[in-house]
Amino acid sequence: MRVPLLDLRPQHEALREELRAALDRVLSTQRFVLGEEGRALESEIARYSNAKHAVGCASGTDALLLAFMALGVGAGDEVITTPFSFFATASGISRTGARPVFADIEPRTYNIDPAKLEAAITERTRALLPVHLYGQCADMDAIKKIAARHNLIVVEDAAQAIGAEDKGRRAGSMGRVGCFSFYPTKNLGAAGDAGLLTTDDDELAARLRRLRVHGGETEYLHREVGINSRLDELQAAVLRVKLPHLDGWSNARRERAETYSLLLTNAKLPFDLRVPFIRKRARHIFHQYVVRVAAGLRDPLMEHLKRHGVGTKVYYPVPLHLQECFRPLGYKEGDFPESERAARETFALPLYPELSLEQQRYVVETIKGFQP
Ligand SMILES: *Cc1c(COP(=O)(O)O)cnc(C)c1O
Repeated sequence: MRVPLLDLRPQHEALREELRAALDRVLSTQRFVLGEEGRALESEIARYSNAKHAVGCASGTDALLLAFMALGVGAGDEVITTPFSFFATASGISRTGARPVFADIEPRTYNIDPAKLEAAITERTRALLPVHLYGQCADMDAIKKIAARHNLIVVEDAAQAIGAEDKGRRAGSMGRVGCFSFYPTKNLGAAGDAGLLTTDDDELAARLRRLRVHGGETEYLHREVGINSRLDELQAAVLRVKLPHLDGWSNARRERAETYSLLLTNAKLPFDLRVPFIRKRARHIFHQYVVRVAAGLRDPLMEHLKRHGVGTKVYYPVPLHLQECFRPLGYKEGDFPESERAARETFALPLYPELSLEQQRYVVETIKGFQP
């Protein structure tokens, strides 16, 4: 049996005709940038994410950059975030001229630890950037309290968390602005790159809309220097076909995650394997199903799974504070032990809505067959 880490083809097969019709609709109009599809998608996602405004852009990476540009974060400012995330979490901060400041994670959720975050605040701190890693929200109550106490802006990196909830509040609706990605492998994936921001702030939404079209209030009149970052009509049309299915897919992911956790817990493995921890009153959308084993076992176990046709991947093997490009920030190995440990001990198992029970059983049986 083969169990790839991710297979997007069954989703496409199910929606093939609808997707073709949607693409055809856009091609017929020959309107590709900032049209009706994009506007409709923005209002549909604003409603879905319980935010007043949604502003499309070209990628999740650009969403983060645009958020900090619109908030006026720049040189001399510090933004606190997690070192255990995708690269773009920190690059958006850097690209504005601000300094990414890292704070370590909670070992159970892999999300930023509010106490460590608070300890990292200085007089230069302007904003906090929690990431809702793997589809589970960071501890937003604690983070929002800290932000209020120190008068800081909260930006959510919700790239992996569309539809996730913390005590009934949707990802992207809890901070000043939420940043989403529709990279093809995300729970809601476009046919290429696409991203979006959510906010309840009218002025911020208007500024984001300017900044994504070169900072122009109207064409050829530029109030400030923006960028070119739009969610195009073809991508919007694809996403609008998929959005009505998103809750079904996220629920299917969660069911499969629960199945894995049950099978793995009952497997009586001869070595310790930690299944994902789910916070109380959380809706975890399981963008990834990530398990943890002793560092020395991780790579041999992944190799064993690969030999038996099971795809796995490490998210993320090198914490951001140890990336070469961030060397000027002055961090070193040992600064964030929980992030460094997670980078050595965790890996993701195959998870997607169409994954069969038979495939899941095979994955767990294969793990059982591993001789440490
Ligand atoms: C995917 C992702 C991004 C970047 O999104 P792109 O659309 O790929 O640019 C940012 N942050 C996190 C946590 C992500 O997973």
